[in-house]
Amino acid sequence: MKRIAVVGGGISGVTAAWQLARERAAGRAVEWVLYEAGARLGGTVETERRSGFVMECGPDSWVTEKPWARELAAELGLEDEVVASNDAIRRTYLLWGGRLVALPGAMRMMVPVDLEAIADSPLFSEDARRAYMQEPERAAELKATALPEGRDESVASFVRRHFGDEVTRTVAAPLLAGVFGGDVETLSVRAVMEPFVRLEQQYGSLILALRERATKVKGPKKSVFTTLKSGLGTFVEAMQREIPPQMVRLREPVEAIARIGGRWQLKSSRGAEEFDAVFVATPAHVTRRLLEPLDAEAAELVKLEASSAVVAALAFDAERARGMEIPEGFGYLVPPQTAGEDSLLACTFVNQKFGHRAPEGGVLLRAFFGNRAAGTLMAASDEEVISRAREQMALALGELPQPTHALVRRWPFSLPQYAVGHLDRMRALEERVARLPGLRLLGNAYYGVGLPGLMHEARKAAEEALG
Ligand SMILES: Cc1cc2nc3c(=O)[nH]c(=O)nc-3n(C[C@H](O)[C@H](O)[C@H](O)COP(=O)(O)OP(=O)(O)OC[C@H]3O[C@@H](n4cnc5c(N)ncnc54)[C@H](O)[C@@H]3O)c2cc1C
Repeated sequence: MKRIAVVGGGISGVTAAWQLARERAAGRAVEWVLYEAGARLGGTVETERRSGFVMECGPDSWVTEKPWARELAAELGLEDEVVASNDAIRRTYLLWGGRLVALPGAMRMMVPVDLEAIADSPLFSEDARRAYMQEPERAAELKATALPEGRDESVASFVRRHFGDEVTRTVAAPLLAGVFGGDVETLSVRAVMEPFVRLEQQYGSLILALRERATKVKGPKKSVFTTLKSGLGTFVEAMQREIPPQMVRLREPVEAIARIGGRWQLKSSRGAEEFDAVFVATPAHVTRRLLEPLDAEAAELVKLEASSAVVAALAFDAERARGMEIPEGFGYLVPPQTAGEDSLLACTFVNQKFGHRAPEGGVLLRAFFGNRAAGTLMAASDEEVISRAREQMALALGELPQPTHALVRRWPFSLPQYAVGHLDRMRALEERVARLPGLRLLGNAYYGVGLPGLMHEARKAAEEALG
């Protein structure tokens, strides 16, 4: 009987434990313990459902292009739950000079497929428009100077080479802040935008590359985002049902991991236990602490900056929502260069982005605070956070009524920042960890923060541990 410890019950740890349950059901001789410090499983994946509102406390969807979340949904019998984002009204706004201005349509992040849309946009000066128009003409030069294999640079430096400084600040900075809570000047382009790096190598011009790819795509367009009707928490609930409860230890943080006589010994608040293998699926700052006594160099390589996030969801029933004027689209971003200390980074028009999120006529809005604002709000009361969210949203959407329901979640150090050189660090880390037989690192500190990738890695770890 192989014994495995899974440390951390976020989506990574739960998926690993669920895969082990599947393996065991298929006759493999394995048992495990899933240790979770908190009182519930799911980590940042959490859904609250109130009077027909589906309120996501953390992630709200996954990127459709990545197949693994959908595959997992199918295996859990959740096909009927899978829904696409309402891409017919997919539009993102910037809070720009005190009003909401739509980002040009037909853009993939900061790269337009249709240059005409740029010509009409009030977001850009003549210089920025010219930079966009000239990028396709510079294809040969950009290909010759493309980022060489094995080298890295910041997202800002990559975007500047293609479109100049204004586009970097106006479009790239808010997009990456809104997703990663991150700073374009420090984020690694290889770690967070690898597909664009490959397109640059192949085509030089990113605009030409996207245009050519658009002509090759056959059949109906896929939506950009996918989710579950009843919320992503359904993933966790469905997997938890298949994991025998005696193998889950809630409120039991792992305090130390040691290698003793060829086995792994884990110390928790309830004592010590031995295992043949251990999956460490905790946030980077905890993983670092657990690794320190095992391999100080490996621990050093897990030393990443991480942003904190504070989320406030405000739900308005049909009566209160009457008179609210929310523009058509998925939400808006606040460019970091114009954001004040109190600013939210992104606001999602949840009931417009996805169906099944609000009862008929209801409106669900969600504010995402990061960086400095998250720092100060982390210690604020729920009432203060909700009132700050309402004030901030009012700057873009006009006065808002009192919400019918509201929730606040604080996620300290939840979004690791992949700085320039991240992938080299990860290669070095893999080499160190390979010397610790049976130990595996899972979670969002390494090769992506998106749910599909985390699910995929966790399932692979469980399969590989059983040979
Ligand atoms: C606000 C927000 C919005 C996001 N939106 C999206 C999105 O829309 N789509 C998307 O794909 N991704 C999104 N992400 C990213 C994604 O949600 C995360 O990367 C992912 O959920 C992380 O999962 P994880 O299992 O690696 O870690 P976590 O969810 O952080 O789980 C780690 C677990 O370890 C536990 N733990 C800590 N210390 C110990 C210990 N000593 N012993 C035992 N257990 C311990 C914690 O309690 C926690 O439950 C978002 C993230 C945030 C914060």
